[in-house]
Amino acid sequence: MIPRVRRITAVCALGAALAACGSPDPAGPARPAPAKSPVSASPAASRPPVLAPGPGGLTPVFEHGPRTLGKTVALTFDADMTADQGPRAAAGEHFDNPSLIGALRELKVPATVFMTGRWADEYPTEARGLGHDPQFEVANHSYSHYAFTDDCYGLPRVDAGRMRSDVERAYASLHQAGVPHALPYFRFPGGCYDQPALRALSGLGVTAVQWDVVSGDAFATDADAVTQQVLDGVKPGSVVVMHCTRSAAPTTERVVRTVVPELRGRGYRFVKVSELIGESTGHR
Ligand SMILES: [Zn+2]
Repeated sequence: MIPRVRRITAVCALGAALAACGSPDPAGPARPAPAKSPVSASPAASRPPVLAPGPGGLTPVFEHGPRTLGKTVALTFDADMTADQGPRAAAGEHFDNPSLIGALRELKVPATVFMTGRWADEYPTEARGLGHDPQFEVANHSYSHYAFTDDCYGLPRVDAGRMRSDVERAYASLHQAGVPHALPYFRFPGGCYDQPALRALSGLGVTAVQWDVVSGDAFATDADAVTQQVLDGVKPGSVVVMHCTRSAAPTTERVVRTVVPELRGRGYRFVKVSELIGESTGHR
């Protein structure tokens, strides 16, 4: 189903459903790295900026960057694959979208990819290629892509007691696939979260990353409508949520090829989420 806007704890959180990203690894075949502990082993050497925890160590939530520090915008792409979709992939469904990643490389657009662990298991070569390309940063979108709240676009629900381990398992899968420095950023499947979910992830050191612009690319067939929605929504500091899967978001590459030159023409500069969080925390 196509995600619709909903409100969760006063935050406009619009869900993504399915999608996936990826591209061939320009550096060669993936070599699984030893699985190490998740978050503690994941932050890049440069220590990516994170938001300070909320009261009681509550996982902080980031939605967009400063509105007054210039025209920056972050395109984010959810690499969705749900834990129960293996048979569909085996039957030929493509949860990746190498040509979209190729377009981003061609257009030289830095981007942040929120990848599920199940996706990394399925496409380790593509995961590794993204993880080793400085144009991209790879962050955590859970292992299973199961929902962290009730009523989240029909996604299966992850048990409360397993939320933390689902995030840790995703970091392990990303590392196993060859992503050396997954960012300490986590996007809730479907964007669905509540206070118990934020509490369940306390202490992991992750910043939850939402968005302020919904592209509407999931299951869309009208590229022009998606393009217009992005162009209408972007403001300085915006975070745009998009997807990259050939099966569930077929228009996204066309959208990107239109949106990128148009926004550049309006004076926007594309950045990764880490740069927007850095601006928000004063680490510029
Ligand atoms: Zn997703």
